[in-house]
Amino acid sequence: MPFAIRMRQVGGPEVMSWEEVEVGDPAPTEARVRHAAVGLNYIDIYHRTGLYPLPLPSGLGLEAAGVVEAVGSAVTDLRPGDRVAYAGGPVGAYSQVRCLPADRLLKLPAAIDFRTAAAMMLQGLTSAYLLRRTCRVEAGDAVLIHAAAGGVGLIACQWAKALGATVIGTVSNDAKAALATAHGCDHVIHYTREDFARRVREITGGAGVRVVYDGVGKDTFAGSLDSLQTCGMLVSFGNASGPVPPFDPLLLSQKGSLFLTRPTLMHYTAKRADLVALGSELFDVVGAGKVRIEVNQTYPLADVASAHRDLEARKHTGSTVLLP
Ligand code: NDP
Repeated sequence: MPFAIRMRQVGGPEVMSWEEVEVGDPAPTEARVRHAAVGLNYIDIYHRTGLYPLPLPSGLGLEAAGVVEAVGSAVTDLRPGDRVAYAGGPVGAYSQVRCLPADRLLKLPAAIDFRTAAAMMLQGLTSAYLLRRTCRVEAGDAVLIHAAAGGVGLIACQWAKALGATVIGTVSNDAKAALATAHGCDHVIHYTREDFARRVREITGGAGVRVVYDGVGKDTFAGSLDSLQTCGMLVSFGNASGPVPPFDPLLLSQKGSLFLTRPTLMHYTAKRADLVALGSELFDVVGAGKVRIEVNQTYPLADVASAHRDLEARKHTGSTVLLP
């Protein structure tokens, strides 16, 4: 029987256990996929700790790439042997084999290998909707991207640069600064030792940026508002440092008629047509070499606990792949 990670209670990395599971035949609208590579994402930590509650017991993981083994009777556009990848629910990607809704799968271009696919789907589709849908970044825009050397960060910085933006990134150490610079950042700010909002004002000649992409949350929220130009947009899309505390919307008026949105990939890909369109934009920028996918860490899937510990300790850069 195949193995998968299961979780019976929320808590530290030790709540994840590697267990034999039964995987039956796919339901009529499902496909059964044998995973070749599984993606690690910060949202997996929110699921594990209970910040984003899951019904328990549960599997974990939202992203993988592999080969279709079987399809349900109503699935017409996939066949056994197809190379596919996905990002998004239902959870359960931390597994060797699983069944999932076939309309969540994208066929992989031949040039994209499984590890690259598992590294890029969730963070890349996120970068796609952030930069192309939530706020459409144009040439000449100044943008601020927090955690610029992270998974979403390295992809989003390269993509924003390719769109012609002036890219300002924040990082916590020198090695991450070098990486961010090599992946599209025009300016890098050490936000753990500098007042990043003040630096953003200096860099932009006092104006501020058109949009801030903030996946860090609690520690950066206030400074992100202070980094925006009049009528700029704060896209608060994650909580790596903890959730943003409640705040008074009047602040948005006082700081320049600002826009605030708290989006999630799930809504931007809920319709199959939107998923396919974002996926094709992502495959295009990767295929054209405008965005390089950096798989900087790999772990055995059975040892995903170590991967979670290292991600929480800010030891990772770029993307991380778990090998089933
Ligand atoms: P990252 O690889 O970016 O890892 C998180 C990074 O956050 C760290 O490397 C670290 O970079 C930074 N960070 C700042 N403060 C802390 C802290 N206290 N503890 C840990 N890390 C901290 O992760 P992902 O690319 O997977 O995700 C980035 C963010 O985007 C996450 O918040 C994630 O939940 C969110 N996300 C949201 C989506 C959505 O649709 N809403 C979809 C995908 C991701 P440094 O050391 O440089 O500070």
